[in-house]
Amino acid sequence: MAITKDAVLAALATVEDPAVRRDLVSIGAVTRCAVCDGRVSIALRAPGATSDEARSALAEAALAAVRAHAGESGAGLVGMRIEFLDKDGAVVGVADTAGPKRAPAATPPTPQAAAPGLPGVAHIVAVGAGKGGVGKSTIAVNLAVGLARAGRAVGLLDGDIYGPSLPTMMGLGAMDPVVIGNRIQPFMAHGVKCVTMGKLVEPGKPLIWRGPMAHGAFKQLAEQTEWGELDYLVIDLPPGTGDVVLTMAQMLRLDGAAIVCTPQRVAQDDAVRAAGMFRQLGVPVLGVVENMSYFVGDDGTEYDLFGRGGAEQMAQRLGAPYLGGVAINTRLRVNSDAGDPSANFAGDDALARDLTRLVERLEQEVALAASQTAAPTLTVR
Ligand code: ADP
Repeated sequence: MAITKDAVLAALATVEDPAVRRDLVSIGAVTRCAVCDGRVSIALRAPGATSDEARSALAEAALAAVRAHAGESGAGLVGMRIEFLDKDGAVVGVADTAGPKRAPAATPPTPQAAAPGLPGVAHIVAVGAGKGGVGKSTIAVNLAVGLARAGRAVGLLDGDIYGPSLPTMMGLGAMDPVVIGNRIQPFMAHGVKCVTMGKLVEPGKPLIWRGPMAHGAFKQLAEQTEWGELDYLVIDLPPGTGDVVLTMAQMLRLDGAAIVCTPQRVAQDDAVRAAGMFRQLGVPVLGVVENMSYFVGDDGTEYDLFGRGGAEQMAQRLGAPYLGGVAINTRLRVNSDAGDPSANFAGDDALARDLTRLVERLEQEVALAASQTAAPTLTVR
C-alpha cells in the first residue's frame, strides 16, 4: 500500500530538531508535505539544519522514521525528497533517496533501461513541455547558454524537429551547415555547440514528419553530430507526448527532463501528462520551471496574469523539484528574436538573476540524479 501524507507527518513528529530539541512538526518546521504515488516530497525550515552534517543527519533520521511508518519494511515508499530551506525560504540543501530496494521483477523494463549514453557526453538533459508556446525553447536555450557561461562544455540539440526555433533564438542566421564525412559539425554560438533541423532544410518549408521519419531525423541529429567532449547536452523536445520523446528515451540515457509550464491550470494539466510520460519511459523528472510567472510593468508593478505559483504547486503534487520561475519580460522576447540570449545574462536585473538561479538549480538536480543511491545524498547550493 502506498504511504499517506498523514503517515509522513506522524513519522516527522517523532524526529527531533537538534537545535531546539523538539519534534519537527510541533515547531512548524514542515512547511510542505506532499505524497504522490509513493513519492514523498517535503520542505523543512528546521532551526538545527545549519550545516551539511546536520542536514544529512536530519535527512537520515526523517527517512528512517518515514520508512518505519510506511508499513511493512517501508514497502509503500518509492522515494523521498527533502528540501532544506533557510529562513527566507531559499533552498540551501536537498536530500533525495530511493525507497527500499524492490525485487527486480517488480520493476517493468522501461525504454531508458536499455538506452546507451553518448560517447564523451557526461550529462544529457531534456527540456519538455505539455503544450506549445509556454517558452520551452526559450528556457532550453537559456539553460544551455547559462551553463556555458558558468564554464561548462555544452551542446544544444534542437529536437523540436517540427518547429525548430534555434536558428532564430541562437542567432545562427548566416551560418552554413558543415558536414565532414557523415558527421554534422555543430554551430558554435554563445559558447554552445548547436544542431538544428532548421539549418538542414529549406527555410520556411513546412516540416512534416511521419513517425519513422521523425525517429530517423532525431537519431541522425543526436548520433551523427561531432559533439566532442561535453559536460551537458541539452535537448529541446517537441511539445507534448510523441514519437521524438520515445525515440530519445530509447536511444539516449538521460539524467532527466525539466518540464516547462505556465502557471494556469490548463497548462498544468498538460505538464502533468508530460511528467507521467517521462516517468513511464523511465526518464527522471528533474523539475518544473514556471515560465511567464507574472508580468512587471514599466513602473515596477507586478501583474499576476496567469496565477503565479501554479506550476510550483503542481511540482509539489507531482513530488518533483521546483526549479524556479521566470517572469514575462520584454527583454527576453526581444533578445530571443534577435538571437542574442547572452544579453539576458548581461545585467544585474531580475531576468539575469532568475535565469542564473535556474541554471544553478538544474545543476544541483542533475548532480543529485547522477548520484542517486539507496542512502540519502545531500547537495548544498
Ligand atoms: P515553445 O518552445 O514552448 O513553443 P517558445 O520558447 O518558442 O515556446 O516561446 C514562445 C514565444 O514566447 C517566443 O516569442 C518567446 O520569445 C516568448 N517568450 C517565452 N518566454 C517568455 C518570457 N518569460 N517573457 C517574454 N516572452 C517570452
